[in-house]
Amino acid sequence: MKINTKSFGRGANCCKRCGRKSGLIRKYGIYLCKQCFREIAQDMGFEKYS
Ligand SMILES: [Zn+2]
Repeated sequence: MKINTKSFGRGANCCKRCGRKSGLIRKYGIYLCKQCFREIAQDMGFEKYS
């Protein structure tokens, strides 16, 4: 099976920050893994929801 790895955008399935595939968050079109999302969220001042 051929994997489509062209530029990030619609259908991207790995983190656009680090390229990781585990824990990917595609909500809101951010395409980041949980770890990067957490770091970015802190940078951006997001509040943490439990
Ligand atoms: Zn990442």
